[in-house]
Amino acid sequence: MNEERPLRPANPAVALEWLLEGNERFITGNRLHPHQDADRRTALAPAQRPFAVLFGCSDSRLAAEIIFDRGLGGLFVVRTAGHVVGPEVLGSIEYAVATLDTPLIAVLGHDSCGAIAATQDAMQHGITPAGFMRDVVERVMLSVLNVRDQALVDSEAAMRQHVRYTVDLLVQRSSVVAERLADGRCGVIGLSYRLDEGSVRRVAGHGV
Ligand SMILES: [Zn+2]
Repeated sequence: MNEERPLRPANPAVALEWLLEGNERFITGNRLHPHQDADRRTALAPAQRPFAVLFGCSDSRLAAEIIFDRGLGGLFVVRTAGHVVGPEVLGSIEYAVATLDTPLIAVLGHDSCGAIAATQDAMQHGITPAGFMRDVVERVMLSVLNVRDQALVDSEAAMRQHVRYTVDLLVQRSSVVAERLADGRCGVIGLSYRLDEGSVRRVAGHGV
């Protein structure tokens, strides 16, 4: 078999176009299911060159390759409940950006998010959840502190603020991401997802 190199976008803006085009196909029911065949599987086996990092909430309704109509080798996916950031998340994203040369990081939040609801509950009643769920809630809480009053009553506003905060946090915490952003090799976009429509909207962005 001929070696087929997966196409790469020319810059972060083109990578974002690819992402949004795939989402549009999903919304309209015109999915192409690209790169899900045996030939692509074999071609990709030696190396991966994903065009975007998808850092989203773990919610089962946010299946990355489905909602962006992608297949093997397209997205480097990192997901945690409420897309909260810790060392392993940062290390995973840095690997994709620095080693795989991935030009775009997309942070994906969504409506009806359990992590946001648990955070609102904790802020309202002063009770945090048991076990390590507390860590998730505490990290979301940090995101929404400066819009606390609004976040208490408006879950959409809380979610958007959490996405904005997360986008900024990735740039602030990771010198690898910051360097790649500064020289234009990588962009960071924050998106919100609507569960009923399957659509994404831009919330924040750096370099794209
Ligand atoms: Zn969620």
